[in-house]
Amino acid sequence: MTKASPIPSPNDFTSDRTLVRRYLDQLDLPVTISEKEKTSVLCEIKQLILKKNAKLVTHYYTDSSLQELAETTGGFVGDSLEMARFGRDCDADLLIVAGVKFMGETAKILSPLKKVLMPTLEATCSLDIACPSDKFSDFCARNSEREVVVYANTSAAVKAQADWVVTSSIAVDLVEHLKDLGKKILWAPDKHLGSYVQKKTRADMLIWDAACIVHEEFKFRGIQDMKAVYPDAAVLAHPESPDSVLQIADLVGSTTQIINAANELPNNDFIVATDRGIFHKLRLAAPNKNFLVAPTAGDDATCRSCASCPWMSMNSLRRIAESLREEKNEVIVEEELVEKAMIPLKKMLNFAENNRLVVKGKA
Ligand code: SF4
Repeated sequence: MTKASPIPSPNDFTSDRTLVRRYLDQLDLPVTISEKEKTSVLCEIKQLILKKNAKLVTHYYTDSSLQELAETTGGFVGDSLEMARFGRDCDADLLIVAGVKFMGETAKILSPLKKVLMPTLEATCSLDIACPSDKFSDFCARNSEREVVVYANTSAAVKAQADWVVTSSIAVDLVEHLKDLGKKILWAPDKHLGSYVQKKTRADMLIWDAACIVHEEFKFRGIQDMKAVYPDAAVLAHPESPDSVLQIADLVGSTTQIINAANELPNNDFIVATDRGIFHKLRLAAPNKNFLVAPTAGDDATCRSCASCPWMSMNSLRRIAESLREEKNEVIVEEELVEKAMIPLKKMLNFAENNRLVVKGKA
């Protein structure tokens, strides 16, 4: 008689952290360019954007020069949910998505008739890497009674297996909604966001074990030390951060929710636990306030704070120009995957649109 294979725990599906390390070792970071070259590259990009009826869609974590360019050319800067919405609704023929791979794929899935380019196709995300589609299929198959909810930071192949896609801005609301319907949840891939959602909703959740290499490094102890120096500072944290950090945060929210809170809260000082790329928007939103990067250094570390996504840093003006000029780095998603992944993505957008007031109110 063959022995039935044991039900695996989520840890059996943990992707080897060395896989993430391997990607990091191969990073091809852009070189700094002179002011003269910057002026000429900006001029070329602006002409190409007009000529090709293109829109630049960038994430808050990209370099401030990219964010400025997007806004001054009729493009968009936002979190991944807003980027997806903008790409779908704008009337461009071509989208150039400055962010990481899953953002380009999402743009293509939601806008299959638009050409989607990226400054580089090598910019990825530790959450995406640590949730390979084949292992995820096994996880789903062994827990088929559960509603499958995946974070936006996943490949199209993983999204295609999900019932729902969520971003950090709507994760709590959506899981609460599913819990009210009596559903048990299978959650992937971010364990910190998953635990945060589970705590908030008390839903029955089975959680994959992966993390964002940037947010996982924020330290409770370092933030506490900073609070001693800035006792009136409010702590703003992204829910991909560890639980100990979220416990002392005054606000836990998505990038957009963090920007809104900086504007709305009465404090003058803010300790911010998310990628430092967001400081560009924070300073524009609240120019008279003081923003401090939350520390990532442990007792033995030499750097005070990294807080910078290495893959987001791969996006550069020069690479945008090259990509637009030669129409290279096109995002291609297989038709079958587009059809399947579009379903949970559209459900997410509809849910967010129907619950817009609730979502904003929860910042
Ligand atoms: S900051 Fe973290 S979650 Fe965002 S793209 Fe980088 S590795 Fe992924």
